[in-house]
Amino acid sequence: MKNNKLRVGIFGISGCAGCLLTFLYEECFKEIVNLVDIKSFPLIKEHTYKGDFDYVFIEGTVCFERDIKRLKELRKRSKKIVALGTCSCFGGVPSIKNFLDKEKTMRFVYPTYNHLKAENPTPIYKHIKVDYYLPQCPPSKEEILEFVKCIVTEKEFKPYTDPVCLECRKNGNLCLLNKGEICLGPITNGGCNSICPSNNVECYGCRGPCHDANMKAFISLLIEKGYSGDIIKSKMQTFAGLQFMEKGEKISEWLEK
Ligand code: SF4
Ligand code: SF4
Ligand code: SF4
Repeated sequence: MKNNKLRVGIFGISGCAGCLLTFLYEECFKEIVNLVDIKSFPLIKEHTYKGDFDYVFIEGTVCFERDIKRLKELRKRSKKIVALGTCSCFGGVPSIKNFLDKEKTMRFVYPTYNHLKAENPTPIYKHIKVDYYLPQCPPSKEEILEFVKCIVTEKEFKPYTDPVCLECRKNGNLCLLNKGEICLGPITNGGCNSICPSNNVECYGCRGPCHDANMKAFISLLIEKGYSGDIIKSKMQTFAGLQFMEKGEKISEWLEK
């Protein structure tokens, strides 16, 4: 009998496997395997499939030359590429290295090792065309499932584009900015149901900057509250620093005021 299901691959480059593991939540995975044909998922099954894919999900940041090679190969073999998780979409925590002294950082972690040829970590869109983004660290299993349902029914997948604050207010939380925390909710894309502030933890921006974020106003507010430019910058650089820094061209100027 002919199998008409979409052919899917789930791969990782340099990452922690947290995004890949999100697929394996029982309730999520059971539904996904019924909806699509998972041809390759090296984390859980032997990697023998050599054919093409309809959709490939990729976790992780580009840190090494081998990651770029892998991405290019997968791009050739798949009709659509989905960036899975904050590392893949925006660079994630490894991209902090872009803002640090590379040599000093390497010596701190590997005091005697001299053969490490790591690149400046970058998100996958810097190397290949990406068709869809499912950010968050780790991504939400509900969003992955919703995405899979959309692709099998050919329904348009609409990413959430309002700031985290909107969900946070709906959830009735007291604002952490008023409790002396730097919460990036006003400038960060929601869609996580404000999971961090709802648990009394400030938002670190892992779903990336909102397209219409008013960075200047937000930074002025934090400066008025007495935070230094360095503290604000390091918060913004935690998960999606490359995007936040690109978003506000004059960000360094505003932060230095
Ligand atoms: S986005 Fe988070 S969970 Fe996914 S690979 Fe990066 S650090 Fe791990
Ligand atoms: S706690 Fe954070 S996300 Fe919630 S309303 Fe305040 S700034 Fe926005
Ligand atoms: S609240 Fe912020 S840091 Fe937490 S999951 Fe949502 S976007 Fe990410």
